[in-house]
Amino acid sequence: MWDECNSVCSSRNGLEGTTEGNGRRRLGIMGGTFDPVHIGHLVCAEEARWQFGLDEVVFVPAGQPWQKRQVTPAEDRYLLTVLATASNPHFSVSRLEIDRGGPTYTAETLRALREFHSAADLFFITGADAVLEILTWKDPDAVLQTARFIAATRPEFDLGKLDLGRFGDRVSVIQIPALAISSTDIRRRVREGRPIHYLVPPEVASYIEERHLYEHPGD
Ligand code: ATP
Ligand code: MG
Repeated sequence: MWDECNSVCSSRNGLEGTTEGNGRRRLGIMGGTFDPVHIGHLVCAEEARWQFGLDEVVFVPAGQPWQKRQVTPAEDRYLLTVLATASNPHFSVSRLEIDRGGPTYTAETLRALREFHSAADLFFITGADAVLEILTWKDPDAVLQTARFIAATRPEFDLGKLDLGRFGDRVSVIQIPALAISSTDIRRRVREGRPIHYLVPPEVASYIEERHLYEHPGD
C-alpha cells in the first residue's frame, strides 16, 4: 500500500504496519516554530494521524530556528502549543528542542527522537513549503533514513516541482483541507488589531491577548 502513496493520498495509508499489526508504535512528529500555533497546524497533524494510523503525534516547537528571524520566547510558544493540543488525546508536546537551546536543526532532532523511540516507526509531518526545503538539503537521504516524511498540501506551495519518485516510500503527499493560514499572517493581524478568533483555538487567542504578544512591529 505504501507504493501507491508516493503521489497523493486522500484515504488511510500504510496501515498494514500499525501497532495492531507488527507491534511497532507509529509516531508522528510535527516540527515547527509555532509562533503562534494555528488551526492549519492542527488540521495537518490530525489528518496525517488519521491517514497513516499514527498512535500519537508529538509537536516539537523549535528552540531558535536557524534560518528564522528572532522569534517569540520559547516558553510562550511551548505553552501556546500545549494549550492548542490539550483536547486531543493523541497529541502531545515535546520540550526536546526548547530545552536543548541553541539553533534547531531538524536532522539533529530526528536523530535524537530516533534514539529515544527506537521501537517506533517515525513519521515527520510537514507542510508543502517545509518539505520542499528539507528535501533540497545537501543530504536528504540521510534524513529520510531516520523517518518517513508526510507532506501535506498547503495553499500557495506547489509540490508538483518535487520529483518524489526518487524517494520511494519515504515521502508521501497527503491532501488536507486547504487553509491559507500562516503564523506570519496571525502576527500581522494582531499587530493591526484584526481578529484572530477561529484561526487559532480560543485558548491560544486568549493567551495571546493576555500576554500582549505580537502587538508591536518585530514581535
Ligand atoms: P511562519 O509564517 O512563521 O513561517 P507557519 O504558519 O509556516 O509560520 P511553521 O511553524 O513555520 O508555521 O510551520 C510548521 C509546520 O506546519 C511546517 O511544516 C509548515 O509547512 C506546516 N504548516 C503551517 N501552516 C500550514 C497550513 N496552513 N497548511 C498546511 N501546513 C501548514
Ligand atoms: Mg513556516
